[in-house]
Amino acid sequence: MAKDRLAEVLERYEAVIGLEIHTEITSANTKMFCGCPVEFGGEPNMRVCPVCLGMPGALPVPNEYAIEATVLAGLAIDCDIAPRSQFHRKNYFYPDMPKNYQISQYDLPFCERGHLDIEVDAGGASQRTDSSRAANVTLAEDGAYVARIGITRIHLEEDTGKMVHVGGTEGRLAGATHSLVDFNRAGTPLMELVTEPDIRTPEEARRFAQKLRLIWLSLGISDCNMEEGSMRVDGNVSIRPRGDSEFGTKTEVKNMNSFKSLHDALAFEIVRQAEVLAEGGRIVQETRHWDAGAKRTSALRSKEEAHDYRYFPEPDMVPFEFTSEWVDEVRAKLPELPDARKQRFVGDYGLPAADAATLAGDTGMAEFFDGAVTIAGVERAKQLSNWMLGEFSALLNAEAIAPSESRIVPAMLAELVGLVEDRTISSKQAKDVFAEMASSGDAPGAIVELKGMKQVSDTDELERIVERVLEANPDEVDKYRSGKTGLIGYFVGQVMKETRGQANPQVVNEVLARKLGG
Ligand code: ADP
Ligand code: ZN
Ligand code: MG
Repeated sequence: MAKDRLAEVLERYEAVIGLEIHTEITSANTKMFCGCPVEFGGEPNMRVCPVCLGMPGALPVPNEYAIEATVLAGLAIDCDIAPRSQFHRKNYFYPDMPKNYQISQYDLPFCERGHLDIEVDAGGASQRTDSSRAANVTLAEDGAYVARIGITRIHLEEDTGKMVHVGGTEGRLAGATHSLVDFNRAGTPLMELVTEPDIRTPEEARRFAQKLRLIWLSLGISDCNMEEGSMRVDGNVSIRPRGDSEFGTKTEVKNMNSFKSLHDALAFEIVRQAEVLAEGGRIVQETRHWDAGAKRTSALRSKEEAHDYRYFPEPDMVPFEFTSEWVDEVRAKLPELPDARKQRFVGDYGLPAADAATLAGDTGMAEFFDGAVTIAGVERAKQLSNWMLGEFSALLNAEAIAPSESRIVPAMLAELVGLVEDRTISSKQAKDVFAEMASSGDAPGAIVELKGMKQVSDTDELERIVERVLEANPDEVDKYRSGKTGLIGYFVGQVMKETRGQANPQVVNEVLARKLGG
């Protein structure tokens, strides 16, 4: 859909968006209420037991790690942790849920009333207009702004199994001949976060989800893999004429498995709603499905068909009472979050904000970088950052590995930067050493030694070579001295040839300039 169409609609209407984000606690060893392992994929129905299959009489035992992870998540986004909380049964029938109810939380969730600040750059349809610059927005001079998005709650529940509709078109029942069910995922600890309707543009929604994902990753509670469904974002969206204070009727969009899909689905939905209103129609409250291929949403089910979930307290588990001491213990486990880390990289290491944000956003990269800076010294932070964002990132992408899985360790990168700095090797040679480090895992010093790569920086030796080159090229020397200074490149090339590329170009230039000038 055309971007300008969205901008056009947003001139007349203000969009109101609230997100519901499900995240599997994939770092839990076991499921939410039984001892079955938490893993993705595998042969269907192999990681199941009487508890997660909902056999009569099987009793749930809550997973302490999952509860702690949820409280940690709440603390990371400034939620209040409930002194008293409880699991409820949410009753409905669907074949992917063996018990015919889901153990979830209702009016007593673990975390409530948090917030997360998102930064939005200046420009385009990503902008809020004046009427939506509410109290929760801080404007910068250039039009960029920070919006504080309220978090209503985070609760913990168990994930469902998975249906496979055989013979159907992608993701839908249409045309399917039969369905299969896999309960491996059933019972996986699942956090659900709900935001206040504080988001105003698809871009804000994307930024919110991206930032939340980085925070969850830095907490180490989930792999947040959107393609595998371990992080799933649903968007609630409505529009209202600019200046109105009442919310319009919302629709809920599901099935967005990337940040781009989230953005595009919301943008589509905003434009669609405006078109319905323009034709004199009315928005129906319904759940809609995003088709990433067709780039459109379609109605899935209307709210009129909505279930009465008949929530009641889970009778097989007592309520929870968290002491403030226990909450403080969990709080003490909070790692440095991406925002704070970014500030530190800018403040202590002097990195440009964009570079700092990229490094800080990835815990593995940030830890590697911190390690290398500790060894090489703060004054080499910028050099190290350049290697990390350039060669090192390219290598990790190409091999689809994490920094800790690389053969390169922080000390090696620190040493490499030192070798360039003391002119043992040139920057160009350093790239070759880097490639060799990546494949062999050898330290850069050893590689330089082994390959005889040592750059000739010794001024005495280079002086002799330069003299030889000048003596062998008297005509060029004359031309140079009579004004053809562009010949300097020719002389440098001759010296490089003599040294088989191992002369330090900076030193060569210095020596040449001195000898030719005289
Ligand atoms: P429901 O009862 O349909 O589940 P909730 O009030 O629980 O609705 O809200 C669900 C999500 O929808 C929340 O993220 C909330 O911020 C958002 N939301 C609520 N009302 C609106 C609205 N009119 N427009 C857009 N989003 C909304
Ligand atoms: Zn089980
Ligand atoms: Mg609700």
